[in-house]
Amino acid sequence: MVIGCSGQIGSELVLELRRIHGNENVFATDIKMAPKDIVKSGPFQILDVMDEKRLIHFVIRNRITQIYHLAAVLSGNAEKLPIQAWEINMQSLMNILDLAREVDDIKKVFWPSSIAVFGPTTPRYDTPQLTVMEPNTVYGISKLAGERWCEYYYNRYGVDVRSIRYPGLISYKTEAGGGTTDYAVEIFYDAVKKGKYECFLRDDTALPMMFMKDAIKATIDLMEAPLENLSIHSSYNVAGISFDPKMLSDEIKKHMPEFEISYKPDFRQSIADTWPASIDDSVARKDWGLDYEFDIKKMTKLMLDEIGSKLNKPECK
Ligand code: NAD
Repeated sequence: MVIGCSGQIGSELVLELRRIHGNENVFATDIKMAPKDIVKSGPFQILDVMDEKRLIHFVIRNRITQIYHLAAVLSGNAEKLPIQAWEINMQSLMNILDLAREVDDIKKVFWPSSIAVFGPTTPRYDTPQLTVMEPNTVYGISKLAGERWCEYYYNRYGVDVRSIRYPGLISYKTEAGGGTTDYAVEIFYDAVKKGKYECFLRDDTALPMMFMKDAIKATIDLMEAPLENLSIHSSYNVAGISFDPKMLSDEIKKHMPEFEISYKPDFRQSIADTWPASIDDSVARKDWGLDYEFDIKKMTKLMLDEIGSKLNKPECK
């Protein structure tokens, strides 16, 4: 079961899980309508993860064995409505952890954390798995609290919950959902549509990012890893690729020399300033073989090609 299947990650994760496990075995749910390919290829249900009663009925009726819980209010949006974001992010996780504890059929849960768990006092470069964590955004606070609850439910009740601290995720299928790293998706759409982009972060704001295909593979690899190999039951660091807006625009210019970028930092700059620039993911590599296929070069070419053909514009080489 995937909760939040209509979002940036869910819309790709569902299709990959259906390819692996069979279309009819992957239940997609969300409070909003899913993309056509999800609705057509297998079961889809409108379901609010905050509605405990309907959730438990759904899980039991469909004999769900694994839950990927992706529904959340993301970093940029969370700062606009802090209390609501806290309630949704925490209560939905607690609903899922309790469900997994109570329903024997549920064997594993995936819940994503984020690099937002780190804060201004965390070492910014090569941020270690275990380090100072003093997030000062409501999103980061909710993710850090969530990590603590995941570890608690594993230790106290044996709930097998697995998690990754995703960096910014980059994909061409669905537009980004209100995060601080969204510029790295928007830039490609604006490059193709308008030939220029106004970036809401400063040119030198390096952040860890990951191409969606690598993120989906990492997620499924972690879920498939033998439990005895896992030494972390809060959330694993994954590094992806680190770059800043200038490096990304230079890479786009190699394909579109006329592309122009300008910078107008907004409230998201102060969020990004508290996040790591690069991450040490050696524990994930050792425990479950984390690896990547995409670097900035390969990702940029594919993003421009795919968005170019999606928007039906042939100008991307
Ligand atoms: P998204 O905003 O694109 O998608 C979230 C989905 O959850 C949406 O389709 C939304 O309709 C659904 N949803 C919201 N409230 C719901 C509810 N009450 N019941 C059921 N569904 C509900 O987010 P995403 O980018 O796909 O992120 C998924 C998860 O990964 C989140 O936990 C997010 O914090 C985490 N994450 C994402 C990124 C990233 O760059 N995308 C980075 C780090 C962590």
